[in-house]
Amino acid sequence: SNSLPSSNNPSLAERDKAVIWHPFTQMQTAPLPIPIVRAEGSVLYGANGQTYLDMISSWWVNLHGHAHPYIAERVAAQLRTLEHVIFAGFTHEPAVELAERLLPVLPSNQAKVFYSDNGSTAVEVALKMAFQYWHNLGQPRQKVIALDGAYHGDTFGAMAVGGRSAFTAPFAPFLFDVDYIPAPVPGQEEAVLQLAESLFTEDVAAFIVEPLVQGAGGMIMYEPDVLDRLFQLARRNGALIIADEVMTGFGRTGRLFASHYLKEKPDLMCLSKGLTGGTMALGVTTCAQPIYDAFLSDDKFKTLFHGHSFTANPLACTAALASLDLTLSEATLANLERIAAHHAAFRQRLSRSGAVASVRQRGTLLAFDLVAEGGTSYFNTIRDVAYNFLLERGVLMRPLGNVLYFMPPYCTSDEQLQYAYDQVEALLSEL
Ligand code: PLP
Repeated sequence: SNSLPSSNNPSLAERDKAVIWHPFTQMQTAPLPIPIVRAEGSVLYGANGQTYLDMISSWWVNLHGHAHPYIAERVAAQLRTLEHVIFAGFTHEPAVELAERLLPVLPSNQAKVFYSDNGSTAVEVALKMAFQYWHNLGQPRQKVIALDGAYHGDTFGAMAVGGRSAFTAPFAPFLFDVDYIPAPVPGQEEAVLQLAESLFTEDVAAFIVEPLVQGAGGMIMYEPDVLDRLFQLARRNGALIIADEVMTGFGRTGRLFASHYLKEKPDLMCLSKGLTGGTMALGVTTCAQPIYDAFLSDDKFKTLFHGHSFTANPLACTAALASLDLTLSEATLANLERIAAHHAAFRQRLSRSGAVASVRQRGTLLAFDLVAEGGTSYFNTIRDVAYNFLLERGVLMRPLGNVLYFMPPYCTSDEQLQYAYDQVEALLSEL
């Protein structure tokens, strides 16, 4: 039963249950949440002395370990200096410096930075920029092309361009139409390109894509070559290309951005998650100069009328600057290679297991399918079995249906990785 045990001293989890509604959680059947009291490096410390190895970087955000002292000190100092200020008509050093440092490490055509709060808002802003770009040019275009099974966030625009699923069903009447092409996974490339050829017509405003790895859709991976060819098809009729690097950004795929594997450049980019090293909420949308230029006018109606109360929050920008220092350090670059090499070795072991299919890797991301009745589905019951098995052994992984994946913080040690691999192997031998 889910009624609260009567107690004069309810636990934190019970107090939570009384007042809180959690994300992506069926509150009727979900077990009580696990209280975490502190975290350090890749380890979460539970209230009752348990520890959890955070193999998913806490919803894919953490890069350098939890409660990183360097980021903490920088944010604390900023908090005592300037915690926040309206970003219309005003500016501040952390916002300017972050933009100055981000642009040179992005694909070279990216020219301007627009701040918001999270991955979904970064996508909303990119979509609004794309639609209004065509509107401002006096050639309105409405059509968007996206990939089947894409995930771009939970706000309405972001939902609209994501794959349609049980998650979006209640909102279907409110989501604008999008044309989908299948992810160009190995073996499907030519068929996908053929379909794309017919879809990228003159009325396409934008093509939005998670470059090289479709995250929430099941860690679906494909090659840079075919994405370059899709970009070329999109370009033929001028569609703006939006690279949603909310998950793939900041080293996840082995390079600083997944877009760095490509020859073609996106017109717009969306960043969040690892942007602040996973410490604070911040979103960024960047664009190439011609997009920015289409909003410059004596006509006030060509303004991008978009903003949030916490746009360019100085604390979040400072966290991002500190995280960028760490991300660009030799130590982190070495860690990216180290983790990728360990994953590659474990991949060989996984490939020999009968309980596993489609082992795939891009940099620090290692994913595979658990062979299960019912196949690939978010609601496959094997998900709970795997989640609980690993949690009981002190490893936090959160399968997407029957897809299990590693996305560790870059500071995760060899021993910690090995421990997590061992628990996954134990799980596989149980299945
Ligand atoms: N885009 C991608 C590729 C994502 O993976 C996510 C989140 O998982 C989002 C956008 C949405 O980001 P947020 O959860 O910060 O709104």
